[in-house]
Amino acid sequence: MAGQHTPVALITGANRGIGRAIADQLAQRGIRVIAACRDPAQGRDTAQQLNAQGHAADWVELDVSQAQQREHAIEKVVRTHGRIDILVNNAGVALDKWVPTHDLDLELLRQTMEINLYAPLHLCQLVLPHMQAQGYGRIVNVSTELGSLTECQMGSSGAYRTSKTALNMMTRLLACEIAKQPDILINAAAPGWVKTELGGDDAPRTTEQGAVTPVWLATLPADGPNGGFFRDQAPYPW
Ligand code: NAP
Repeated sequence: MAGQHTPVALITGANRGIGRAIADQLAQRGIRVIAACRDPAQGRDTAQQLNAQGHAADWVELDVSQAQQREHAIEKVVRTHGRIDILVNNAGVALDKWVPTHDLDLELLRQTMEINLYAPLHLCQLVLPHMQAQGYGRIVNVSTELGSLTECQMGSSGAYRTSKTALNMMTRLLACEIAKQPDILINAAAPGWVKTELGGDDAPRTTEQGAVTPVWLATLPADGPNGGFFRDQAPYPW
């Protein structure tokens, strides 16, 4: 892991859904969880609940669609905790569920891209210099099977799916660029179809199950994969 100190993990959208389960599972591994949430009250609550269970946890305000908040959040975590070992880009939206792509409102596409693609990329750009200085880092971009070109057999949800396909490409490009850096690994995770507000009530997986692959990628050993797309801890077709 990250040496002698307690590793520090920032998780976006840690207040509910899969992000909350990722926060719980990382905290259970002795990692200091920073819950990055757009609602300060929910961020505080998440950290307090983890603290009450005996875990090291803090929170930071972060509406991922706001570039300035992205900068402030990373600066604050590094100033307060001295480092940032793990970034989990989990916060995401599906604003155009089931909307046919030929009817897609371009404004929805712009909003989706800001949250699902530009924000994760910018956060990667902000944390990478710290990870390079530390000589350690794990980045997990939470993607979806629906972003896979190989598995694409139905229409609709074009904004959501395109944003995640692009996130996969961004993950791969960043990973190629840092490939020669010691002990920094960047991967994308598909959590499966998970019962959350985004996933809906019919989804077969629990948030705990959905968190398993992101947590695995967040805690990879030094010889772990870099630049891959994984579901159930196994490569998934792009
Ligand atoms: P969810 O229960 O709807 O939770 C979404 C999370 O993202 C919430 O914490 C939400 O915060 C946060 N969020 C949304 N917009 C934000 C913003 N502008 N700034 C900060 N936080 C923001 O969804 P989920 O199912 O857990 O999804 C988590 C990730 O898994 C997403 O990236 C999603 O694409 C991916 N995923 C989910 C499924 C599934 O079946 N559920 C499948 C594949 C991939 P608020 O509470 O403040 O709204």
